[in-house]
Amino acid sequence: MAELWTIGKILKWTEQYFAEKKIDSPRLDAEVLLSHVLKKERIYLYVHFDEPLEAPELKAYRELVKGRVQHVPVAYLTGCREFMGLSFHVTPAVLIPRPETEILVQAAIEELRRKQEEDLSFADIGTGSGAICLSVLHYVPGTRADTVDISPAARSIAEGNAAAMGLSGRVEFHTGDLLEPLKGKQYHAILSNPPYIPDGEIATLAPEVRSEEPRTALAGGKDGLEFYRRLTASVPDYLLDGGFAACEVGIHQEESVKTLFAARGMQRVETLNDLAGIPRVVMAWKE
Ligand code: SAM
Ligand code: GLN
Repeated sequence: MAELWTIGKILKWTEQYFAEKKIDSPRLDAEVLLSHVLKKERIYLYVHFDEPLEAPELKAYRELVKGRVQHVPVAYLTGCREFMGLSFHVTPAVLIPRPETEILVQAAIEELRRKQEEDLSFADIGTGSGAICLSVLHYVPGTRADTVDISPAARSIAEGNAAAMGLSGRVEFHTGDLLEPLKGKQYHAILSNPPYIPDGEIATLAPEVRSEEPRTALAGGKDGLEFYRRLTASVPDYLLDGGFAACEVGIHQEESVKTLFAARGMQRVETLNDLAGIPRVVMAWKE
């Protein structure tokens, strides 16, 4: 007779298996994958420990478990990731939005809300899944955005997310190099989480990142600062007077990025820390 797998039993088994395979959060990952297969909230699992799984559910779950021990990130297995309380579809064509990027988004939302003008516009450079741009559009009604990404595959994911969130009418997607596709335009804000990992450090990242996420989303040149050099060189031309730029930065990069903005005549160059006290965002205003 086939073995009976209940929700409680399979979670316990997977937690142990993931731990043996050195997966970082074995219990949480098991729960997220199982609730995805069952199309239920995680809380459902706790009150249905004794419920047996059906054969097709068991089969689908086993496939996900197999992927996870090969270090495929949970978000690529389930195809979605929560960011700013919104659900984003993600595939291996896009970086999985990180919680620390919410610092940049929150700062941009506050700063845009503070402006008294109507018809606020902003650009999101290196938009990936659209996490930054679509969150700001969602939380600041009345804004419009242009996004750019070098990757056409990322663009179609971001376009799908915009449609799913009912935001397609307020955003235009461009494929190209940094600000180049937006030539001649000016915005109240330019937001970017560019690739910033020094090329030589990519090999030291967790396998979930180094082998699974797109290298074009991570590699920031020899010292990781390549995109900031190019962005800061042109950002002031694309900002309206009184407009601001906000960039996420990697560890130990804030001073260099502040210096780059200041050298281009930007005023009030500031740093915001993340919850761990690490400088995460550099903001700069155009007079
Ligand atoms: N904004 C998303 C987020 O925060 O989750 C994704 C950020 S990811 C770190 C950087 C993005 O920049 C990737 O989607 C990558 O394809 C894009 N990118 C890389 N080089 C670029 C370039 N030269 N011009 C425009 N986008 C670029
Ligand atoms: N925060 C990402 C990581 O640590 C890197 C994203 C980026 O390069 N902008 O993997």
